[in-house]
Amino acid sequence: MWLAPYASQPDKTRGRRHPEQPAPTRSDYQRDRDRIVHSTAFRRLVYKTQVFLNHEGDLFRTRLTHSLEVAQLGRSIARSLGLNEDLVEAIALAHDLGHTPFGHAGQDALNACMAEHGGFEHNLQSLRVVDELEERYPAYDGLNLTFETREGVLKHCSRRHAELIEAREPGGVGRRFLDNTQPSLEAQLCNLADEIAYNAHDIDDGVRSGLIALEQFESVPLFVHFRDDTLKEHPQVRGRRLLFDTIRRMLSQQVYDVIDATRAKIAEHMPVTADDARRCPPLVRFSPAMREASTQLKRFLFRELYRHPQVNDTTTRARQVITDLFAAYVAHPADMPAEHAARDDLHRAVADYIAGMTDRFALREHERLTGQRLF
Ligand code: MG
Repeated sequence: MWLAPYASQPDKTRGRRHPEQPAPTRSDYQRDRDRIVHSTAFRRLVYKTQVFLNHEGDLFRTRLTHSLEVAQLGRSIARSLGLNEDLVEAIALAHDLGHTPFGHAGQDALNACMAEHGGFEHNLQSLRVVDELEERYPAYDGLNLTFETREGVLKHCSRRHAELIEAREPGGVGRRFLDNTQPSLEAQLCNLADEIAYNAHDIDDGVRSGLIALEQFESVPLFVHFRDDTLKEHPQVRGRRLLFDTIRRMLSQQVYDVIDATRAKIAEHMPVTADDARRCPPLVRFSPAMREASTQLKRFLFRELYRHPQVNDTTTRARQVITDLFAAYVAHPADMPAEHAARDDLHRAVADYIAGMTDRFALREHERLTGQRLF
């Protein structure tokens, strides 16, 4: 595998928090990816909501299939740009590990519950999962991943949280938010691959759910453009195949666009090492035209799908589940498994426990503790 000079090189990793012998047959980033795939948090992703609740249908994306699609898009772009595919894959598979059940509704509700106790934010939680919450190794908590994977997992971070991380880990993954520098190009790529993936699969899931009709996409030039391309080549095609072929063309074009626009930006700034790239402005990007088209699509999905009355109704009930669970465990910590109940920081322990739940486990617990069935 050819690596560009500005790619992350595993033999130049800033290493792990607990030093370990290198693996005999795998690079450090391959090893990170393998640790993530074997983690408990990764297996939970299969029963966590992306947009549609897990029990609403078997074919909707879950956090797991979403993460796999991000990894696929990310790797494909990484290979063309000479970036490190293994690192991209590791970051992509870990990027959503900190998500609560019920998607963003769950995170907002848990953040509100934690308002007086440090808040809750899914990016920080993803880092907590890989740094502290996974219990798999005799000698340390967490998965002991490399700096570069952890840096990619911590996508966003407020200044206040960055300062807290910096105090615990000077010069570590919080630093760039204080210095205003960028993460590795692999991390930047995962961010964009995430956006490309959810824009595309939410069109598919939105139409599949019946909440959006194909005709509504007339106001989305990006979609119309590729739908018309499909119809030019296959005038008879309708329905599902028309939808899939449109999305397929849209995905390919976005991938080519990122590759071209990023190559141009790299040629402009000429980073010669991975650390050079961190000091440049963001280099992995869409062209301005594709950036605008993608933002338009995102706004459309926000309006027509994420704020659809039917989705809002589920959101309201999902918030209720999280809020009730939080109150119940804080009032009776013994309702949690002993290792959670025994922690000194009760509110954080409750938040960690709830955040780790799958959708269906949260619903079962809610019914057990409140006697109510909200779904
Ligand atoms: Mg994501």
